Amino acid sequence: MSSAQVNQLVRLLRTERVSKGSVSVWRVIDACRAFADLHPVISCPAERESTVDDDLRPLILLDVDGVLNPWHKQGPHWLSVEAVCDGVAYPVVLNPEHGPMLLQLAQETDAELVWATTWQEDANREIGPLVGLPELPVIAVNAGAGAPHVHPKTPPVAAYVNRRPFVWFDDDLERADRLYLKAHKNVDRFRIIDVGPRKGLRPLHVEQAAEWLTSFEEKSRVRG
Ligand SMILES: [Mg+2]
Repeated sequence: MSSAQVNQLVRLLRTERVSKGSVSVWRVIDACRAFADLHPVISCPAERESTVDDDLRPLILLDVDGVLNPWHKQGPHWLSVEAVCDGVAYPVVLNPEHGPMLLQLAQETDAELVWATTWQEDANREIGPLVGLPELPVIAVNAGAGAPHVHPKTPPVAAYVNRRPFVWFDDDLERADRLYLKAHKNVDRFRIIDVGPRKGLRPLHVEQAAEWLTSFEEKSRVRG
């Protein structure tokens, strides 16, 4: 089973709403992965070395499924469309107000928005324009699944952030992911904002991110 096939399986399971039951999607995927003994096949991208020229602005990491694309529409202004990922069309529900909300957050906190989703580059083509986001950098989260018991996106995210502080909007992260990030040499400060996949990203989550990013800035000024 290839990495692309694993991601397609995840998306299909989500479409069937398997995660509404007692079995987590990632428990199923873990079992598939263990069975297929994928770890020697899928390797984590090499960690980047720090350089003094690196951009040190905070990052705002964005998931699609369960965050910008929750299980149900949350209002009459939401869009219900089909979007193509890896060449396959999936039904999605999107809020055109999410983009402006996130752009305002990024502007007010001097942070950079980045996709951290298995939609990868497809997010820029299929999701961003419908929610009002410009083209954003993409973390190659499908490139690696190299750590047991953590979400496959977590190791690539750790490799990407390069000690820049970050907030991460996601619906699938657990304690093991936090522990992995805290122990990773490439990770400094971070805040995971747990978004419920039923309703997706709400103003409350953006306010939590703004509060953390603002407090981080204030602490930096005090220290500086
Ligand atoms: Mg998700």
